[in-house]
Amino acid sequence: MTSLWLDGRPEAAGPTPALDDRYDVAVVGAGITGLCTALLLARSGMRVLVLEARHVGAGTTGNTTGKLSLLQGTKLSRIKAKHGDRILRDYVAGNLEGHDWLARFGEVRGLSIQQEDAYTYAQSREGIDAARAELEACRAAGLPAQWADDADVPFPFHGGVRLPDQAQLDPLPLLDALASDLVHHGGTVAEGARVTSVSVGAPPRLMVQLAGHAEPRTITAEHCILATGIPILDRGGFFAKVKPKRSYCVAFDVPGDVTRSMFLSTDSPTRSIRYAPTADGDLLIVGGAGTRSAAPPMRPGGRGVVALGQATLSGGDPDPLLVGAGLLAD
Ligand SMILES: Cc1cc2nc3c(=O)[nH]c(=O)nc-3n(C[C@H](O)[C@H](O)[C@H](O)COP(=O)(O)OP(=O)(O)OC[C@H]3O[C@@H](n4cnc5c(N)ncnc54)[C@H](O)[C@@H]3O)c2cc1C
Repeated sequence: MTSLWLDGRPEAAGPTPALDDRYDVAVVGAGITGLCTALLLARSGMRVLVLEARHVGAGTTGNTTGKLSLLQGTKLSRIKAKHGDRILRDYVAGNLEGHDWLARFGEVRGLSIQQEDAYTYAQSREGIDAARAELEACRAAGLPAQWADDADVPFPFHGGVRLPDQAQLDPLPLLDALASDLVHHGGTVAEGARVTSVSVGAPPRLMVQLAGHAEPRTITAEHCILATGIPILDRGGFFAKVKPKRSYCVAFDVPGDVTRSMFLSTDSPTRSIRYAPTADGDLLIVGGAGTRSAAPPMRPGGRGVVALGQATLSGGDPDPLLVGAGLLAD
């Protein structure tokens, strides 16, 4: 299965650049976390190396729904309930900073970013309380969210929170732009470079298995940042806390107009909906139905995503165009 964003891109790693034995910072993983971190460090004058086991965007970032939104399902109400209003406000302040930074970066780099409203919505009456709680959390955090009884959409909608002026994008051009800016600031991105261990002690030494090389390479860095999503080291037992989840995402070629806003449901099975502009017109993306499983082929949850997409379309019963799936650490 290939995600819409990775479709047509070479899945192989690019040629390995010349590598030194020592850097100020080694960042492991070339998703959005690793590349943003690496670029900020390189801009501050550090010599930065990004080591990516596969290729840029190969992990979760290349398989997301590409929404850039402060409204993240029921995340804010869950933070409020567990940690209180102060931590909630800190979380939102950090997200706002990240959101604005990415929006500015995208504008300067001429990336296609669509500004749209985002909804956290109830698909059924069971989801309304959670959506109302999300509205309360938004207000506690100072976000200009409003309640909507109706959103004029062709799928079940029992009310939801609307947050205006959020954004969506294709994550791959963003990652490419981050990587090329990083190189412009003296950084290095090595694809096909799998880190197999990081020594304890200062400075850390990384064992790196480069594609096409029989022997691993040792690289020393003053600081090592792991941005691999799932922990790759056995320290802290974090690997044992990770629960792999598979989530489905389907893009449809739609005969009519596509819903403009972005939607994420409160109730199960989760539904995430947006459009994606392409040269041949807008596609409808429907995702969700995360399950605690890493195993293809498509499970019933994935077929539910397809069914919702088909039901959402007016006057059509098209086949899914592209199906992607991402793994998420819980
Ligand atoms: C289906 C789905 C939809 C989502 N939709 C959204 C959304 O719309 N908006 C949003 O903000 N968030 C969304 N998320 C969450 C978001 O995608 C992730 O939080 C984010 O992309 C994680 O980025 P990352 O850089 O931390 O990890 P990743 O993108 O997974 O990058 C980690 C990288 O590390 C590399 N790596 C792993 N092990 C090694 C190793 N040993 N050596 C070297 N490299 C290694 C991997 O190959 C990978 O490229 C979604 C998640 C999923 C699963």
